[in-house]
Amino acid sequence: MASAAQPETQPLTGALSGGPSGGPSGVNEAPIDVPASTLGAAIGADMLMVFTVILGLIAMAAIANVVIARRQARSAARTARSRAQSMRELLRTVRMAETIAGIGVWQYDPKTGTQWWSDGLKRLFDVDANEVFVEGDAETLLFANNIDLIGQINEHADEVEPYSLQFDVHGFDGKPQSISVHACNLTNGSGELHRVVAVVRDNTEQIERERALESSRAEAMDEARYARELAETDALTGLANRRRVMRELDRIVMNARVTQMPLVLVMFDIDHFKRVNDTHGHPSGDKVLQRVAALATGQARGGDIVGRVGGEEFVWVIPGASDGMARIMTERLRLAIASDSGVDPVSAVTISLGYTSIQAGDTALSLFARADGALYDAKDSGRNRVRMAA
Ligand code: GH3
Ligand code: MG
Ligand code: MG
Repeated sequence: MASAAQPETQPLTGALSGGPSGGPSGVNEAPIDVPASTLGAAIGADMLMVFTVILGLIAMAAIANVVIARRQARSAARTARSRAQSMRELLRTVRMAETIAGIGVWQYDPKTGTQWWSDGLKRLFDVDANEVFVEGDAETLLFANNIDLIGQINEHADEVEPYSLQFDVHGFDGKPQSISVHACNLTNGSGELHRVVAVVRDNTEQIERERALESSRAEAMDEARYARELAETDALTGLANRRRVMRELDRIVMNARVTQMPLVLVMFDIDHFKRVNDTHGHPSGDKVLQRVAALATGQARGGDIVGRVGGEEFVWVIPGASDGMARIMTERLRLAIASDSGVDPVSAVTISLGYTSIQAGDTALSLFARADGALYDAKDSGRNRVRMAA
């Protein structure tokens, strides 16, 4: 029973003894009975320590994980913040670019009919960029501006290349505006149209500038034409001067050669004009010149040219006229002047005329020379008459 009351013992050697050789007393040479509870306590302490270490390690690992996770979370948050910042800056840049370029971006889903209006596009339509569109707003704006954008876009649904549309509209203030839309159809993998992206631009100013430029150009051309006309017009009579007559005659002669159409050149000169000046004075002589010019112009047909090529010397170019027609026409002019009573106090005058028809190899100068010869013939024959060049 006593042994039963004894605690269980476990031999301990070596490790738990004083040493391999035992203590000096020698008592440790015999196995020592250590109570099981003590052993258990020892093992328990040992295990506890191991557990503690393990727990410690686990705790440290957990703490390390938490720290790492926190660091990662902070880093992720930083990255997210930086990305958000980049996105904001990108968006601001896009908005600035839209404003500077005066454009807006329009996107459209043809299946759902959904439209996306960029800030720039809203601004183009005088809508505050911050205004949030509710259903129907976009359609109303297009309708109010008389822009059938959806209809036009639908007509171009099969377009593969980017395309352009132009809208001449009246804004809310009634001012005419010109809107251009450069659109591009985006298709999905199976080739179905799933998005239309368009850059919208108000070209009004540009077109106004172009119109102003065009009108300045037209004005400059008019002025140049006017300057040339002045340079080629006789100031006293308003008739073509020698320079214009020669330029036009060159063209008409070339044309007659090509078309084989007849052409008559008439030269006429006021008879004894010096006497008019001497009798009535130079200003009266000027009036006679104007009167003769007006009467000759009255006899000419459209397409004819009447010009003053010297002091009291004139030409009459009659394209398409035969010799017979020229004879009648020149005689009619001679009579018109001879029968004119003149403008008081200017006395009546007569003219002498010589004419010639175009021949093979003629130039403006050769025509002139022949007509001039016929005129002198008329003068030599007594004046106030018509002569045809031989
Ligand atoms: P003919 O019958 O032989 O042609 O004689 P004419 O007196 O008409 O010819 P002439 O050549 O002797 O005189 C021409 C005159 O025309 C001389 C000139 O003073 C005058 N004359 C030339 N140009 C003008 C002008 O612009 N105004 C005026 N009033 N006279 C001019
Ligand atoms: Mg004369
Ligand atoms: Mg003369």
